[in-house]
Amino acid sequence: MTVASKHCPNCGNSIQKFRTLTADELTSVAATVGHGRADAWNYRRCSHEGCLRVQRHFKADDGFNLPESFR
Ligand SMILES: [Zn+2]
Repeated sequence: MTVASKHCPNCGNSIQKFRTLTADELTSVAATVGHGRADAWNYRRCSHEGCLRVQRHFKADDGFNLPESFR
C-alpha cells in the first residue's frame, strides 16, 4: 500500500497521508466518477480518522467525498 502526503481540503488544508483505496472504496469511486475501476485506481483516500476525502494522486484538486457509509 502506497501512502503520499498531500493537502486535504476537508482537514483544514493540512498535510495528510493519502492511501490507496480498498476494494469497496474503488467500487464506490468508479461508480461516482463513471470511468471504470482502472481510472478509480488513480484516486487516494485521506487517512485522517473520519475523513471521507478521495482525490486524484496527481491532481489533488480533483476529488470528492465518499458516501457517509465509509466514515
Ligand atoms: Zn482529510
